[in-house]
Amino acid sequence: MKPIQDIYPLLTIPRRIVITMHQKPDPDAMGSSLALSLILSKLGHIVEVISPTNWPDFLKWMPGAKTVIDYEASRDRANNALDAAEWLFCLDFNALHRTKHMAKKLAEINCVKVLIDHHEQPEEAAFNYGISNTCKSSTAEMVYDFIVGSGNESLIDENVASCLYAGIIGDTGSFRFPATSGRVHEIVARLKEKGLKHSLVHEHLYDNFLEDRLRFIGHILLHRMEIFYEYNAALIAIPKSDLLKFNVRTGDTEGLVNYPLTIQGIKLSGLVIDRDEERKWSFRSKGDFDVNTFARKYFNGGGHFNASGGRSADTLQKTVQAYKKALQENESQLQ
Ligand code: 5GP
Ligand code: MN
Repeated sequence: MKPIQDIYPLLTIPRRIVITMHQKPDPDAMGSSLALSLILSKLGHIVEVISPTNWPDFLKWMPGAKTVIDYEASRDRANNALDAAEWLFCLDFNALHRTKHMAKKLAEINCVKVLIDHHEQPEEAAFNYGISNTCKSSTAEMVYDFIVGSGNESLIDENVASCLYAGIIGDTGSFRFPATSGRVHEIVARLKEKGLKHSLVHEHLYDNFLEDRLRFIGHILLHRMEIFYEYNAALIAIPKSDLLKFNVRTGDTEGLVNYPLTIQGIKLSGLVIDRDEERKWSFRSKGDFDVNTFARKYFNGGGHFNASGGRSADTLQKTVQAYKKALQENESQLQ
């Protein structure tokens, strides 16, 4: 993978570009992709944004979100765009399998592939150009660097700023996680100068749910959360019946995994949801417990040091047992 800077001089020639992100995109994946798409369009490129799956309603306000192609819902249209692409930008994921059913197609197409990402262990061989920096708060921060580095800061407008800010607050937990550097705050200051209305973005992302979701959270915290004080760890296991009962929609479970970490002394939180095709795990930790390694070792996943995800083909009950066994094996690291 050649350094990302090597493509800056090539940006002046208009091309067909596809930008894509990880499945079930979060504010960082969608925000960074849309911000980059707005900038590349202004530079005269023909840009399509493809998401491997659908996305939560709380991302639908983002400038350009209406034009994003859902690979699962519009596969032919997406494949046509991918076949025509001269360049493919892959944002906010480290390995092609993170794009689910789209992974095979991405591997097959013969175009210039560019990575911009901050997850651990990137599949560098799959990309021609790129940057992987696990110290970065968010891919949105890296897209900001890309825009400024390529000499296009003047193209940042309120729309671009809103998308980037959404990615930054999404991945930094609104500026609280350790990767929130002074530079992140400086970037936000620049985005404010470009017209960013930050409180509007917070409202769009966090005050935009239905009553069902709040009732669902109440139910989950009361009935589905277990605390293991001997391991400083917690578990939330959500059966399919809860998803049906509360009409849980894409994005409604976002952030749930963080609640147990608000309990004194809890260092590790695991959330598992019984989805049709798999049991989907999310892990969050505080301090020196590495959930990237934990997710890789036990749950076929990965991510960052303090935030990761994984999956299991076992039943909910079995995968919960596997988690409890993993807690025992990690007892000393969890003290
Ligand atoms: P979430 O719990 O929100 O699904 O994921 C937490 C973080 O870990 C996100 O940055 C997400 O992109 C990453 N992540 C989730 N699942 C996986 C996985 O299977 N592999 C890798 N490498 N990263 C993951
Ligand atoms: Mn991210």
